[in-house]
Amino acid sequence: MANDYSSQRFETRCVHVGVDKDDTFNSCITPIYPTSTFRFESLGKTKGYDYTRSGNPTRRALEESLASLEGGIDCRATCTGMSAINACMHLFRPGDHIIAGHDIYGGTYRLFASPFTDFGLKFSFVNMQNLDRVRQALTPQTRCIWIETPSNPLLNLVDMAGLASIAHGAGAITIADNTFMSPYFQRPFDHGVDIVLHSTTKYLNGHSDVVGGAVITRHQPHADRIGFIVNALGLACSPFDAWLVLRGIKTLGPRMEVHQRNALAVAEALKKHPRVERVYYPGLTDHPHHELARRQMLGFGGMLSFDVIGGRHEAERVMLGTKLYSMAESLGGVESLIEHPETMSHASMSAEARAGAGITDKTLRVSVGIEHADDLIADLLGALDRS
Ligand SMILES: *Cc1c(COP(=O)(O)O)cnc(C)c1O
Repeated sequence: MANDYSSQRFETRCVHVGVDKDDTFNSCITPIYPTSTFRFESLGKTKGYDYTRSGNPTRRALEESLASLEGGIDCRATCTGMSAINACMHLFRPGDHIIAGHDIYGGTYRLFASPFTDFGLKFSFVNMQNLDRVRQALTPQTRCIWIETPSNPLLNLVDMAGLASIAHGAGAITIADNTFMSPYFQRPFDHGVDIVLHSTTKYLNGHSDVVGGAVITRHQPHADRIGFIVNALGLACSPFDAWLVLRGIKTLGPRMEVHQRNALAVAEALKKHPRVERVYYPGLTDHPHHELARRQMLGFGGMLSFDVIGGRHEAERVMLGTKLYSMAESLGGVESLIEHPETMSHASMSAEARAGAGITDKTLRVSVGIEHADDLIADLLGALDRS
């Protein structure tokens, strides 16, 4: 890196870290290096890169940025969020036991419950809001507590510092999926977590035009091992995708502020609507984990869910009745999305697992975008009125 930005504040690092990589023409923006391979200067001598699966300057720029924003020592940018999770799971061996929340991202649940269970890893899915349940789930083989907070889609929080201390007391590590908050609103390393990962598809890229992931480490042995795994398994992202995410990150701070302001306004409007049974948003003072949210996060984010009065039919009418909210999975882009977790984002969970996590047919999840809050509220309340 040409400059050291470590003393700069978060928003400044979003704009600058990793960004200047061109000494040939002094471009202000990181070039995209779409090359599979790099010329050697002599035997054993390169300019730092030999093959793009193993390393690429554009991808490295993104990795420097994310390591800085999360406060880690290294980062590996992967081709999807799932490949970041896949990389983390390769830290473990058959027989190792991992404790995860009962309401984690559906794709993560599927990866754990099927392919990695087939490989001999053991998983317990528990309600981690209750730390005693986590203590009771520990076994002599427990190597990891897997953290996702707030959870998806019901926005329940778990206590990261409490979980890190339980894990460390048992000789295990903690890995946190920080996709929902982004490092702007939540820094798991500050709470004792050992590895942070992201689906950069969501807030970090922020424009719904790329899928990607990242693993950020703070201990050298993890950094070395994750680097080895990402190269060996071929999980790294393309230079083009890395460039898009790096571009998105420059506006992360301002975007997150607007996502949050709009989400709070929409949540408060929904709460007053007679056709809404319940609103889930950690920024509401009556959210069951509001106090923990204030302690553990730097903001409340842009995701909310709500239960409509009725069931699947009413939920569908609300979704189809909006004009500004696309009925679509995913989240974290500038445009608002609405979806039905039971049949969409969480369809890969078993019906029992969904019921255990409290996901019902009347629950709708909204990724609140950065449109004008008044338009978002008028559109959604209009759809509720007509439902
Ligand atoms: C989307 C998401 C993932 C998976 O990421 P992909 O980029 O879709 O592979 C993992 N965890 C969370 C919390 C997510 O929202």
